[in-house]
Amino acid sequence: MAQTLILNASTEPLTFVPVKRALILVLKEKAEVVETHVSKRIRTEKRDYPYPLVIRLVKYVEIPRRFRSMVSNAVLFARDHYTCQYCGRHKSELKRKERLTREHVKPVSKGGTDTWDNVTTACSTCNHKKGDKLPYEVRMYPKATPFEPRYIALILLSDQMDEKQRPYIEPFIKTAMQTG
Ligand SMILES: [Zn+2]
Repeated sequence: MAQTLILNASTEPLTFVPVKRALILVLKEKAEVVETHVSKRIRTEKRDYPYPLVIRLVKYVEIPRRFRSMVSNAVLFARDHYTCQYCGRHKSELKRKERLTREHVKPVSKGGTDTWDNVTTACSTCNHKKGDKLPYEVRMYPKATPFEPRYIALILLSDQMDEKQRPYIEPFIKTAMQTG
């Protein structure tokens, strides 16, 4: 089931939430509906409502720095296009027992931090191979320099987006990629 995209009052995409949570925001008049699903409706006990695909907050919210800087695997893998930054294989090319992992370019054991500029996407095999070594020690360098994604909405690079949500996110992705 498609989730609802939340835009800030400035129309900057913020995040996806379950559709029921989005509807509550709308009913409480904290957000207004921007796009609805063509045919789907959402039913409650008393009545049914249009299915909100995109909503916009009435008031602008600052995103706390700590949320923005928190590394999550979902956003990390999206930032790196679901591709191992060492062997270059896409998620779809991994073998059965392999998976994408969070890899610390400078290992935590050597003082590396769990921050956007020090984490990259690696397949489990490459992660294991690199171990707790520095890039020059094992001659393994990530293909792209790690950076902090500017918008949580980078998550849209995931496959779950509805076509009607895409135009609200894409302009921001491009900006995020360029400034990254
Ligand atoms: Zn790999």
